[in-house]
Amino acid sequence: MFVSDILSRKGGLVYTVTPGTTVAQIAQQLGARRIGSVLVMEDTDKVAGIVSERDLVCAVSRHGTAALDLEARQVMTRDVVTCHPDDSIDQVMQTMTTGRFRHLPVVDRGELLGLVSIGDVVKARLEEARHESDALRAYIVAG
Ligand code: AMP
Repeated sequence: MFVSDILSRKGGLVYTVTPGTTVAQIAQQLGARRIGSVLVMEDTDKVAGIVSERDLVCAVSRHGTAALDLEARQVMTRDVVTCHPDDSIDQVMQTMTTGRFRHLPVVDRGELLGLVSIGDVVKARLEEARHESDALRAYIVAG
């Protein structure tokens, strides 16, 4: 199974904010949409960074309630690691494990196509394992 299979099911919607969006506004969006991260976009089509719930927790632990007034540009991770639609689920799991993060934007030739989370990846891997065991069982029964 590949990243493109995940995207064909969940679609390509990516929630984004601008570099000036405050931490309070980001927390509100993450809570309301039940998501774990937003991409920070510059000039609508350039990924400037990513802010995940971890960044919000770190900001609050460092600045207390003053963190709520900080802007995305002050708390985001700038070097965003991305994946490609042709990457396998195993490759993506490896990237997330090595990088110690749970969100990967999907980019092809500079175009943002979607975002996969660790939840999407685990779900896809479980489905793949179920198909494999069903196929094995059918093979044994047929034999
Ligand atoms: P997460 O596990 O996704 O909540 O993120 C943990 C940390 O990694 C946070 O500081 C995020 O800003 C950062 N992060 C999340 N996703 C990525 C990514 N695709 N590339 C680089 N950093 C990331």
